[in-house]
Amino acid sequence: MPPVAASPVFRRHLELVRERYFSRNPDLWPVFRDPSLARVIELRGQHVTPAERLCSYPGGTDLLGALRAERQMPEEGIVPGSPHERLVFAAALSKAWEDPASVENVITASCDPAIHGAMLGILANPNLVYREYCEMADELEKTVIRQIANLVGYDPEDATGIFTQGGTFCNLYGYLFGIRKTMPESLQLGLEYGQDYRMINSQGGHYSNTTNLSLLGVNLAKKTIRIQLTEANDIDLVDLESQLTACFRLGCVVPTIMLTMGTTDTFGVDRVKPVHDLSLRLCERFGVTTPPHIHVDAAVGWPLIFFLDYDFAANPLEIDEITLEGLLRTVERFRELRYADSFTVDFQKWGYVPYTSSLVMVKHRDSMKALEHDPENFSYFEKDIQGQTHLQSTIECSRGAAGLFGAYSAMQYLGKSGYRILIANTLQNANYMRQRLAISPGAFVIAPENHGPSVAFRLYDPARVSDPAAEFERDKALSADPAYRRRVQQNNAYHREVFLRRGKRGLYTNWVEFAMHTDYDATDRWEPLPGEKAVFMNPYTDREHIDAFLARLHG
Ligand SMILES: *Cc1c(COP(=O)(O)O)cnc(C)c1O
Repeated sequence: MPPVAASPVFRRHLELVRERYFSRNPDLWPVFRDPSLARVIELRGQHVTPAERLCSYPGGTDLLGALRAERQMPEEGIVPGSPHERLVFAAALSKAWEDPASVENVITASCDPAIHGAMLGILANPNLVYREYCEMADELEKTVIRQIANLVGYDPEDATGIFTQGGTFCNLYGYLFGIRKTMPESLQLGLEYGQDYRMINSQGGHYSNTTNLSLLGVNLAKKTIRIQLTEANDIDLVDLESQLTACFRLGCVVPTIMLTMGTTDTFGVDRVKPVHDLSLRLCERFGVTTPPHIHVDAAVGWPLIFFLDYDFAANPLEIDEITLEGLLRTVERFRELRYADSFTVDFQKWGYVPYTSSLVMVKHRDSMKALEHDPENFSYFEKDIQGQTHLQSTIECSRGAAGLFGAYSAMQYLGKSGYRILIANTLQNANYMRQRLAISPGAFVIAPENHGPSVAFRLYDPARVSDPAAEFERDKALSADPAYRRRVQQNNAYHREVFLRRGKRGLYTNWVEFAMHTDYDATDRWEPLPGEKAVFMNPYTDREHIDAFLARLHG
């Protein structure tokens, strides 16, 4: 079956979005007329492969040498007026996310309006820690939060949120809400004051689960339960029910259940409503008065909320059939995001906003209360103003506003419609890649039914493996048999060698050690299997780039 063609109507929408919001066009966005910016934009627009960028930069090797030789801060400063050569060099040769071949991980070029907005935020330099230090920026933060609340179906009057330092911190808040709500003494006494507890997350969760829990002082091996995954990489509700039941039966507190909507590599999307319902049912059964805080890590997946009110039947954007069908299924799951007590939004990923721009959304503003420290600690600030802000509840003190201004600007200029076009385009690219891989010798697409932006795959030697799907099943069937291990290692080695030989061409894909997990064996053990991945979030990528990559798939 030939891959579905992109509709001309969709194509026109996309071209318009690219022209208006991703062109760095100084006629539309005069800020790009600044000589340093214009120079950096021109240099970055050349799209040479990562390995060749330094050599193709005028005087690049010398500039790098000069930069590396710098030891001392200059005694006398520079008179302003012209671009600073090494500053321009560093900006120009920082990773070119605008290159259509850049598909490494969940990272993107920012859209023009987000850059414009972020620059305004930088210019004004508000500090979100405290109303007096940010004034109107505080209103802007509340405005973005209201709009996101409306999109997901939170009550915008009751919801709140905090722009914070990356998705990792958003998830940290998720854990902290649970800890402070279920174990209020922890505010003073830490976690180990005698109350037995277990944190619950999923084996498919992001590594920030580990860094955060470790930071919080949680014993990772003994106090964390990592729930098994289904074939679709979402959380196994049967395993969750039995683990949660076991905890409650023993009087063990469960502060937080951490779910994920859109895992980084395989785009597993957890259900939320069944977890919410299960939690309430078990709380009632065991007399648990404070239910676990349910946090959803939607760092990657959140922009699917722009489709919650898309007219899928009429499909006015003419999104291709396969993408539309996958999108509809995923979006149905995002309808359940409103059952989460809080969730992570990374504007800095699929939201096309410059770093750092992350928002932890909170369903009930009451949740912030649990995080409040004694006002005595905040002697810098006037007591009667403190109550108006989250000052006593935030993990950090100073909070920059560039991310907030960037996010607001992107949301207003792009609108839901602009975001839908951008998101649908990247998913169409991902599906095109999947369809082409499915008919490429030796290729097997991992979790093809998860129609997310990431396409993970394994490559087998076509000379040895005629049926990649069957071989993949054998790889997955974890066994203690030495022959099993030898074959998996041989397969891994083949793909790894192809990946290295091919180099970064067509698409700059990544190697991932944990592209998927094996089946569970009789003792519930599993192992990661490596693979290659391309994440389609780049608005500049077209089918021709995918074709160029596939033309040299096996090196
Ligand atoms: C990127 C990511 C994070 C971490 O977010 P940062 O903004 O990089 O700190 C957390 N969870 C998921 C699923 C992610 O993809």
